[in-house]
Amino acid sequence: FWSDDHGSLQTTISIRGEIDKNVTTHPDDSSFDFIHSIINGEQRETKEPFYVLDLGVIVRLMDGWTRAMPSIRPYYAVKCNPNHSFLAAMAALGANFDCASKSEIESVLSLGVSPDRIIFANPCKAESHIRYAASVGVNMTTFDSKYEIEKIRKWHPKCGLLLRVKAPDEGGSKMQLGVKYGALVYEVAPLLQTAHSAGLTVYGVSFHVGSAACHPEVYEAAVLMAKSVFDTAAQLGLPEMKTLDIGGGFMAEPEIFEAAASAVNSAVETYFSNVPNLTVIAEPGRYFAEPVFTLAVTVIGKRVRSDELREYWINDGIYGSLNGIIYDCRTVNPTPFAVTSQAGNPLCKGLPTYCSTVFGPTCDSLDTVMRGLELPDLEVNDWLVFGNMGAYTTAAGSEFNGFSTSAIRTYLLNPSTDREAFNLDADVANLIDRLSEAMQT
Ligand code: PLP
Repeated sequence: FWSDDHGSLQTTISIRGEIDKNVTTHPDDSSFDFIHSIINGEQRETKEPFYVLDLGVIVRLMDGWTRAMPSIRPYYAVKCNPNHSFLAAMAALGANFDCASKSEIESVLSLGVSPDRIIFANPCKAESHIRYAASVGVNMTTFDSKYEIEKIRKWHPKCGLLLRVKAPDEGGSKMQLGVKYGALVYEVAPLLQTAHSAGLTVYGVSFHVGSAACHPEVYEAAVLMAKSVFDTAAQLGLPEMKTLDIGGGFMAEPEIFEAAASAVNSAVETYFSNVPNLTVIAEPGRYFAEPVFTLAVTVIGKRVRSDELREYWINDGIYGSLNGIIYDCRTVNPTPFAVTSQAGNPLCKGLPTYCSTVFGPTCDSLDTVMRGLELPDLEVNDWLVFGNMGAYTTAAGSEFNGFSTSAIRTYLLNPSTDREAFNLDADVANLIDRLSEAMQT
């Protein structure tokens, strides 16, 4: 459960259903040694790309969230990374969930999470998905058009609604969402009235300030706009609104996160302190998922074009985990992990570097991961390790040319026995222990 009235982390560990079959747990290694041990162990022959999911990082992020915004429940946005083990860990840590489709709802329910911990936060849903939500008791969703109201009235009339408004400013965010979703100011009153006439209850307002929002002020402007929607509902004599959904956009970089949290807290305090029984929720994706996953890939091919240029092929690429280079304005900077000729110095410290191009494995020339990267002289069967690979990576990967992101194995790193190295306080370490136990049942 999530506790509203204090800043420390609380959890109930109750997970059922199957944890990702591709997961192996190795509790004793720190991140670096752990990756090394996989490369030299289980992946020595197969040399397939793999992910490491770090439980300790999830716990610390949840702790950071709870301390920064103690009264705002996170509904983790499953779209960002639907890895089953990761969802299980989030559920065990007390997160609720933002699902965008029938299949995401199924995935979360299969963990034993109750439907009242899910918001169907897609403003435009297929009728069949709405019917499914009704059948399993997911009773809260977002909307921003009268056509959506009509579908919900027909297929899920008991569903509570949040009006998704277009955030007034998405400046500084990496991916703007207002081009596609969100009611405009002049649309608000007619939509509220249409929903009311359809017999539906609008409980509140949601917005999204754009993904990877770097300017904290955008939250303030959006919270103020949400308040004006609450006021409009009151002026229209509609039932009192009581839910504010501040969406996602949060980044895990501590300074940016703290600034965003502080902007949110002060805006909620300024504009909503006179709203009784207010519930504030959020839909963070990137904040929780990005730092938690590390990707290791193998060099599967090499060509030396000249003394100045090396070209490498790796076994994951633009059509796979690295699609964010195209879709998510992503830049990457992998660490070489040379195990063929540099076994004693895998990080190639002190070795000369060469201008390098790195291609993905498919036959499309668009599948070029990086150009102009300085890398040591790598060999076929060496590795590259990419950090911060949890947000919008596998989720948007394809099966192009038969390279499937869904087949990539995930290893679970549990640092609970390495408390000193991870500088964990006793509460957090204790929580990891309980989480690991739950993940293994
Ligand atoms: N909520 C909704 C409705 C979204 O569309 C998204 C991302 O597209 C998110 C939450 C998660 O956003 P972020 O990853 O920026 O936190």
